[in-house]
Amino acid sequence: MFSKTNFLQYLQCPKLAWTVYNIPNMFTAPDPSTEQRMLEGKVVEEYARKLFPSITLIDHSQPLDEVITQSNDALNYSSSPICNALLSANDLIAETDILVPVEDEYDLYEVKASTKEKPEHIPDIAFQKYVAVVRGLRIRKCHLILLNNKYVRKGEINPKQLFKISDVCEGVSNYGELNDINAQVENALLICNQAQCPEIEIGLQCTDDCPLRNTCWREVNKFKHNIFDLYRMPTKRAVGWYKQGIIGVEEIPKDYPLTKLQKIQVKTEKTGETYVDKKAINEFINRLKYPLYFLDFETFSSPIPLIDGSSPYQTIPFQFSLHVIEKDLAEDPKHYSWIWDAEGDPRLELLERLQSLLGNKGSILAYHSPFEMMILKQAVKAFPKYQKWLGKILERFVDLLQPFRAFSIYHPAQKGSCSLKDVLPALTGKDYSALEIQDGGQASRAFMGILNGEVDDKQAILANLEIYCGQDTMAMIEILRKMKTLTTL
Ligand code: SF4
Repeated sequence: MFSKTNFLQYLQCPKLAWTVYNIPNMFTAPDPSTEQRMLEGKVVEEYARKLFPSITLIDHSQPLDEVITQSNDALNYSSSPICNALLSANDLIAETDILVPVEDEYDLYEVKASTKEKPEHIPDIAFQKYVAVVRGLRIRKCHLILLNNKYVRKGEINPKQLFKISDVCEGVSNYGELNDINAQVENALLICNQAQCPEIEIGLQCTDDCPLRNTCWREVNKFKHNIFDLYRMPTKRAVGWYKQGIIGVEEIPKDYPLTKLQKIQVKTEKTGETYVDKKAINEFINRLKYPLYFLDFETFSSPIPLIDGSSPYQTIPFQFSLHVIEKDLAEDPKHYSWIWDAEGDPRLELLERLQSLLGNKGSILAYHSPFEMMILKQAVKAFPKYQKWLGKILERFVDLLQPFRAFSIYHPAQKGSCSLKDVLPALTGKDYSALEIQDGGQASRAFMGILNGEVDDKQAILANLEIYCGQDTMAMIEILRKMKTLTTL
């Protein structure tokens, strides 16, 4: 059966659609972040159901035939809204979120765990409507149910305020007409049913999470330094070069006007030597005032706000690491840390702890400091008594990312990236590979697992979070030490 997922994959890339349709076993379980998104989607859908009283829920734990029979029975006999009805017609199948009968027609509602409409939402609904019509249903209206980012939780979740519903009938009809959805679906079926996988070159349609990424990008990945890794190179330009057979940075046409930063990158990749603008680095280091505070936050964001006074997908801090150097960059730093124990409001605890630790002088370094500053501002919005303190704290922030964004220092192993996880190994040879938790997304998922009571080894996870966040602030110290050394060479 050809599903909505197959159709959306076809729109992205026929090669992807063919492979998933014909060799579904080739794909293992979704990666952890996709899995989390899917789980969040289900939770959002459960809340959205509450908007529809006496809803009939189709049980998807049964075999496919049984689910279709249940859906058909509900469509034939139920006068109440139907949740998760599976529509099947010819070779097509589409799961709908909510169908509301209105006399002899239906209103179709699609629920998305998103605060705004995305380009893929309309073809998604258009496919459902198409299958419904082929099956003989009449669709009166189409709606998109999205999360309302203005909603602020106060006690129990209020589904009527949590969601916003928009009428997308016009967009869906226009899409169907403009793209001739009938021909589109027929063509997709034709391609997916052919014996050979279609030959599709890599291009703008490729996403980082495409399951065929490693296979399709094998040739590009053979190049240690390729055009797709060039700093801020428009992908469209790189794809154009790729189609001309240009992959390695040394093959870039001589007359192409690379930016100043791209020229630095290409030069270091050719020579293998680190670029250092000693004057700029010295200026950066001389701006710092002791004691030095190295600060890093870990955060989570949930479509359904978990704490009072927060909104869908608001970024909430649950952990910080703080290393302090009193007088000399070479000295052993003192370390302070905090992880929320899921009692009370973490933003208040964060403010209380930091107020007692950050003193009233000295630079506060963060890697991409606007993030830490934004978290503090949001926390103070919820707890305004810290407003005066915040004003003084914000003035002391220094962004350690800034000299890397400016390419005042650049190592060829960074491959066009200025992220801490790429800069640390490039400059110091140290990395996160031995750690159980290796990035912020993983940290956030681990903590959400604790919050949701899904883990048996809570203490081990907390210990790993402590190690991970501590490594981030220690990494900043190591990088700053290396910067200082490089200016003296
Ligand atoms: S990596 Fe690109 S070309 Fe390959 S299947 Fe995915 S989208 Fe298509």
